[in-house]
Amino acid sequence: MKTVEAVCTICGKNNTLNKLHKDFRKVQANPGAVYVCEMCSNRLSAEAAKENDLLRKKS
Ligand SMILES: [Zn+2]
Repeated sequence: MKTVEAVCTICGKNNTLNKLHKDFRKVQANPGAVYVCEMCSNRLSAEAAKENDLLRKKS
């Protein structure tokens, strides 16, 4: 199966994406494209949710 190498912009971890991965086409078309691994993207959305929560409590 064809794969591409993508380095996570946040943690710098090297990931191998197979063609079923949602970012495969993006990285294949542009190897310099911003890629965020699943772990970091989960963490980011968890943090964003927490921040939204704080904002809601303040106002
Ligand atoms: Zn990462």
